[in-house]
Amino acid sequence: MTESTQVIQLGNPLLREKSIPVEDIHAPSCQQLIDNLITTVVRTDGVGIAAPQVAENYRLLIVASRPNPRYPHAPKMEPTPMINPEIIAHTGEVVKGWEGCLSVPGIRGLVPRYQTIEIAYNDRHGKLQKLELTDFVARIFQHEYDHLEGIVFLDRVESTYDMMTEAEYQQRIVKNSSAK
Ligand code: ZN
Repeated sequence: MTESTQVIQLGNPLLREKSIPVEDIHAPSCQQLIDNLITTVVRTDGVGIAAPQVAENYRLLIVASRPNPRYPHAPKMEPTPMINPEIIAHTGEVVKGWEGCLSVPGIRGLVPRYQTIEIAYNDRHGKLQKLELTDFVARIFQHEYDHLEGIVFLDRVESTYDMMTEAEYQQRIVKNSSAK
């Protein structure tokens, strides 16, 4: 059982800093940080988390899509640590979808993202991986990648009319989509 860490919230200046590359993936401190992030994202019903959200200024994120009370329609995948990730290509098509953030509790926003992206990253063993991501999982990656650049999803919402509280979102969006 690894320790789960406190998630910092909007207003903390650490969320607005550009993160630095991880130099030694095999360092015990890096491996411990990966384990802490996985434990934290599972405990908080997140589908992704980035190291800056636990006040660690490194280019490291976890994509951990799975259905849970916050995202009942998320596809299921194993929590995947991605170190020094990059977007190497993307389709022109941009789609809007609802996002929330563990660092912005209580608010959802409609955010435009590339529908399909090609990414490269190092896995936790230091091996270079390339993947094509699409739809919701591509959205998670782009959201978490933004954290490494000091960007939060609210920065990408095009209108304040594209924002809702968590309670209204659960009532209007989640309930409607499960009734279909
Ligand atoms: Zn976030």
